[in-house]
Amino acid sequence: MSHPHSRRVRRGLIALAAVGGCALTTLVAVPASAAMTGSEKAADPASCPVAAEISQGYHDGHDGVDLAAPLGTPIFAAGPGTVTESGPASGYGQWIRIKHSDGAVTEYGHMNERFVNVGDTVTGGQRIASVGNEGQSTGPHLHFEVHRDGGTGFGDDPLAYMSERGVSLPCTP
Ligand SMILES: [Zn+2]
Repeated sequence: MSHPHSRRVRRGLIALAAVGGCALTTLVAVPASAAMTGSEKAADPASCPVAAEISQGYHDGHDGVDLAAPLGTPIFAAGPGTVTESGPASGYGQWIRIKHSDGAVTEYGHMNERFVNVGDTVTGGQRIASVGNEGQSTGPHLHFEVHRDGGTGFGDDPLAYMSERGVSLPCTP
């Protein structure tokens, strides 16, 4: 087998200028411990967040994955949980964060529209937003992050997290 992930990341970096992407690395400061519970449960299965192509992978200078899709493409919750952030955010234009039963948080950036509010309970696959080009962005895409500890430090590899829960990025909702 070859290494499709590595190849995809390199291609994504080259194509970044032409396809939606960003260089976000934790531009928003929020108390890191605010969302932690200390009691992790078994993980729920993941849901595909958006029909898109990977335009930039996860690497040292980018703590999420960029999923490029046309403006207005629906974005879905990557799993059931509770909305902990929904609104404007530095670098992201707009962001949404969802806390899941395993203690992890999934984070969504650059959206055109948001359809959920802080405190909402969402199901996996529920439409929460649409793809936009807000904030530090070179074209319409979803910047998708995973924080296994629920905090706001450098994000964890979204492809690994989603794969452990049954979804291989890129995916079809
Ligand atoms: Zn990004």
